[in-house]
Amino acid sequence: MKNKFYISTAIPYVNADPHIGFTMELIQADVIARYQRLMGDAVFFMTGTDENALKNVQAAERTNVPVREFIDKHAQKFIDLTKVINLSNDDFIRTTEERHIRGAQKLWQACMGRGDIYKKSYKGLYCIGCEEFKTEKDLVDEKCPEHGIKPEIVEEENYFFRLSKYEKDLLRLIESGELTIIPEAKRNETLQFIKQGLKDFSISRSKTRAKNWGIPVPGDDEQIQYVWFDALTCYVNALGYADDTQKFQDYWQNGYVTHLFGKGVNRFHTIYWPAMLTSAGLVLPRKVFVHGYVNIDGEKISKSLGNTIDPFNVIEKYGAEVVRYFLLREIPSGDDGDFSYKKLGERYNGDLANGLGNLVQRVATLIENSLDGELIYDKDKITNDELITQAKYQDSIEEFRLHDALGEIWKLISKANQYVDDRKPWVETKENPSNFLETMTNLIDSMHDIAWLLQPFMPETADKIAKIFGDDLSNKEIPENYKFKVKKEEGLFPRLK
Ligand SMILES: [Zn+2]
Repeated sequence: MKNKFYISTAIPYVNADPHIGFTMELIQADVIARYQRLMGDAVFFMTGTDENALKNVQAAERTNVPVREFIDKHAQKFIDLTKVINLSNDDFIRTTEERHIRGAQKLWQACMGRGDIYKKSYKGLYCIGCEEFKTEKDLVDEKCPEHGIKPEIVEEENYFFRLSKYEKDLLRLIESGELTIIPEAKRNETLQFIKQGLKDFSISRSKTRAKNWGIPVPGDDEQIQYVWFDALTCYVNALGYADDTQKFQDYWQNGYVTHLFGKGVNRFHTIYWPAMLTSAGLVLPRKVFVHGYVNIDGEKISKSLGNTIDPFNVIEKYGAEVVRYFLLREIPSGDDGDFSYKKLGERYNGDLANGLGNLVQRVATLIENSLDGELIYDKDKITNDELITQAKYQDSIEEFRLHDALGEIWKLISKANQYVDDRKPWVETKENPSNFLETMTNLIDSMHDIAWLLQPFMPETADKIAKIFGDDLSNKEIPENYKFKVKKEEGLFPRLK
């Protein structure tokens, strides 16, 4: 039986259009989902939208559009984004869906049944940007460092979750590696936060403060669930937790659960969520990947700077494959990185046009001109061994260094281009046909490896390469006597002017 592998992205608020940072998050998760499928796992990959936040309501009010209509319109943009970047997600969950609402209430009741939810009156500083209560020490100059705004003072009677009870469990879970947090810096951040002592946190708000938007607290019509306490449950709800489906049993309770999200929401995913799951008696995630922020020309993305990048525009101009390549290669997976059109152009011309595109063109032309477009694979002629590349590639993906995995593929591409330069097959074909055949067999072998390894990252490019050479990527190893038949097409990545 296949291993069951589950991966999610975070679910963004729908108060604004999708930005380039979330586009990267989707693409990173897509690579991991496609990689696990390539490794033979059964994969469930989900993404979605967080629609119950107060800031969605405020955004709707600012534009004078009914909340429901505003949210539907914006959620559709996120769905559109998954299409244009060729995302292989199995589900897209919206937290206003009935299956999510029932699941969020079920999980609440499970925690309630454990005695982990209680009511008390509370006064605190609330940042609506973060949708989170802040303490004085979280603030810089009395402002939220993330949003640069002063939190509002909120005083009311709320429900609280007994997070303090899970302090020791969480510490053991993370220190033992039962829950792996990658990269290390984010693991340390979580551990440090737990060691400072965990406080119970408010998980509801009055109906009035929530503007009557969100998921009602079971058994209390006057309270709405705190948006994070509802949103996090989307990860189990996409699998049908509310109805305890087979899918939920397979992928959550008996599967390998992985979350991928940005560094700004680390605390929610590595502290609140595991505690909620433990309280509800559910299985915990095994691994989380935390990515950094995408800056634009060295500056943090901000509306006031007007330096936002519309992912739809970039994709329309360069194509999904190029944008996937650039974001995955240029931005270190677990760290901050920089987006700029200049760097995108350099990567395009350097890596894609002169590197990969040129190699494909050279090999295809040689087979076409000197072998009548056909090459029969003979293993005995192979002299290059790419096993090390493959091992490094796998480690890089599994340790969330997707940029390094691509780096390994590009080493292979440079090596193959160098090999062509060194062997001079256009001379060999006239002077030493036996050497020529050896050269071409080694090159087709590299082409196959390159296309095969590229599949999770640039699935359409991998397919195009396979089509050009008449290759079959369902074989990891090329079968003996396999007949390659070259069918040359337009250049893969024509140089940009
Ligand atoms: Zn904030």
